[in-house]
Amino acid sequence: MLKIKNLHVDINNKVILNKFYLSINPGEIHAIMGPNGSGKSTLSYVLAGKTEYNISKGEIYFKNKNLLYMKPEIRAREGIFVSFQYPIEIPGVSNDIFLYNSLKAIIKHKKKKELDRFTYKKIINKKMKILEKSKNFLQRFVNVGFSGGEKKINDVFYMFVLEPDLCILDEIDSGLDIDALKIVSKIINIMKNEKRSFLIITHYRRILDYINPDYIHILYNKRIIKSGNFNIISQLENHGYDGWINGK
Ligand code: ADP
Ligand code: MG
Repeated sequence: MLKIKNLHVDINNKVILNKFYLSINPGEIHAIMGPNGSGKSTLSYVLAGKTEYNISKGEIYFKNKNLLYMKPEIRAREGIFVSFQYPIEIPGVSNDIFLYNSLKAIIKHKKKKELDRFTYKKIINKKMKILEKSKNFLQRFVNVGFSGGEKKINDVFYMFVLEPDLCILDEIDSGLDIDALKIVSKIINIMKNEKRSFLIITHYRRILDYINPDYIHILYNKRIIKSGNFNIISQLENHGYDGWINGK
C-alpha cells in the first residue's frame, strides 16, 4: 500500500524528517506517536502532496506507483485520504456539493460508470443513517459553524463516503468527547478490511484501544526509532518520550 524509503524532508532550511522509513501493507492499521513538533503532521502533508516541503532525498510508493510524481488531486483520486489536524471551513460550498463532486471525480478516475445524483443520494443516505447524521447536514457549508469535535467527525464522514484505500488521520481524536471518539472509532472499524490501510497519528492510547492497530511506531529525532505493540505505550506512559528514549 505504502512504502517510504530514506525520506528527507525540510522546510525553510529546517530538516523535519531524516532517514525516514515506513511500510504499510494492505489491510494494516499503523499508529504513529511522537512528541509535539516531531514531524507527524509534516509526514501526512508530504503524503497529501503539500508543495511547501522540500523532499531532498528518498522515495515514496503508493500502490507501487511513485507518489512524488503525482499532484495532490491525483493522489486523492488514486485513493489517499488525509484528514486535517485542524479541519478547514469552506464557506459557500455545501457538504452535498462537496461530497457529490469529490465522489464523482474519484469514480471517474477509476473509469467506472459516471455517478448520477440518484445513485449518489442512495449512497449518502445510507451512510448518513449509519452515523445518525441530522438531515440538514448536507445543506450546511463544509465545516462552517461546526464545533471543533464536529469538524473532526465531518472529516471522518467524508472519508466514509469517499472510501479511500489509504486513510491518514492526523490527531483525529484530539478534542473529541467520549461519544464522538466512539463514533470515529466505529467508522474506522466499519471501513477496516483486508484491502484498506490506516495511518493513525495520535497522542493517546484511548483511540488505539478501540481500533487495535497492528503496529505502533514512535517518531522521534526525525525518524521512526521504535515499532511494536501496546507494550510501547505502557513504556511511554511510564517514562515519557525523553525518559524512555534518553534515560532521563
Ligand atoms: P507534529 O505534527 O509532530 O507536532 P509538525 O510536523 O507539525 O509536528 O512540525 C514539525 C516541525 O516542523 C516543527 O518544529 C514545526 O515548527 C516545523 N515547521 C512546520 N512548518 C514549518 C515552516 N513553514 N517553517 C518552519 N518550520 C516549520
Ligand atoms: Mg501535528
